[in-house]
Amino acid sequence: MERGMQGRIEAPVGRRTLVQSDKTQAQPAHKAIRVAADGSAVIEGRKCVDCGAVVADATMACRACGSRTPLEAVRAGPGGKVFSWSVIHRSYPGIPVPFVSAIVDLDGGLTLKGTLRGIAPEAVHPDLAVEAVIDDAGGILDKEGRPYVGFHFVPKGVGQ
Ligand SMILES: [Zn+2]
Repeated sequence: MERGMQGRIEAPVGRRTLVQSDKTQAQPAHKAIRVAADGSAVIEGRKCVDCGAVVADATMACRACGSRTPLEAVRAGPGGKVFSWSVIHRSYPGIPVPFVSAIVDLDGGLTLKGTLRGIAPEAVHPDLAVEAVIDDAGGILDKEGRPYVGFHFVPKGVGQ
């Protein structure tokens, strides 16, 4: 974490640096994202110690086996493989189309849906190796001016 000009903090977030002011704390845009006080972020799942199922959020009981043993935090990704995907042509303001919405099985057992960038839609295939990249959720801010931390996927080795 480095202090830059005018009291702003520059903190590494995945491969990017998220810039936030001293008075704003980045907010996770997804329940599987954990943001530390320094602005760094990771993707974390909750794992059932009895059956090994991994989900994005803590629940009172495991959805797979019904165990009430508290779920434990596990790091997920950044690597993973495409399980399924759709090519989205429906546009909304500020979002160029088409884009690929993918279901990805991350290393660590967590499965997430997210946008897959850096590849032509017709080149996507099952088990395509990808990486999750922590991002700034398109630069949007909440009503208090706090930035969001999101994620997207890219083919492995492509970069951001
Ligand atoms: Zn379970």
